[in-house]
Amino acid sequence: MDKDSTGSMPCPAPFAVDSAAAGLSAVGSAAVDTAATDPSTADPSGASANISKEAPSFSPEDLKYMKAALKQAEKAIAIGEVPIGAVIVYDGKIIARGYNRRNTDKTTLAHAEIACIRKACKKIGDWRLEGCTLYCTLEPCQMCAGAIIQSRIDRVVIGTTSPKSGCGGTLLNILQNPDFNHQADVLYGVLREECTEILQRFFKDLRRRNKERKKMLRLQQAQISEHPVQIQQAQLSSQQPAPHEQEVIRQ
Ligand SMILES: [Zn+2]
Repeated sequence: MDKDSTGSMPCPAPFAVDSAAAGLSAVGSAAVDTAATDPSTADPSGASANISKEAPSFSPEDLKYMKAALKQAEKAIAIGEVPIGAVIVYDGKIIARGYNRRNTDKTTLAHAEIACIRKACKKIGDWRLEGCTLYCTLEPCQMCAGAIIQSRIDRVVIGTTSPKSGCGGTLLNILQNPDFNHQADVLYGVLREECTEILQRFFKDLRRRNKERKKMLRLQQAQISEHPVQIQQAQLSSQQPAPHEQEVIRQ
């Protein structure tokens, strides 16, 4: 694949992700914010920057490290988070791993790339991460792209693009703005299908669970409207302590 004048690789067409998921409003306390950094909507028109239809070939190293980033994304999915993973490689070794924990940690700072940058800085003992490559399953958002440039990471390898928040060339190109004092080389589309599929899987499952919850809620409401007295009595009796518990209360 040809490099452009900045030394970066052109961005391939983004993979079609489940766009219906963007409108989800999760029911219950485990609500997942599907807006803002939501990667679940792709750009089927292919209107993202620098798109090439050319089938790319990637190095074994890039494939290997993107697989490692995907493993991190699996960790996110295991705790109910939007599956986004990242790793940082320095001198042929992974020195930091991270995955999205935004809802778990209750902070927008808990993005995979930020977690990686924190760990890599600790490992190297410097805020400068020159000579490092960051692999991320999803195109970085504005916060992460800014942190990547601020930490002077040399190279960013991206799995799939994010039309909702991508700042590696889709909405903005923070990673390669010539007015900043640092630009990163960017390679797009490494394991793009896998990086997209994991997001599709997550949002498909989220949609299914939301439908089930709503169905259950409708059933409960229908039962209450049909048998309000019996259900209220049942609810009251279920709130009453059991006989052995009443004895404990009396004591
Ligand atoms: Zn981010």
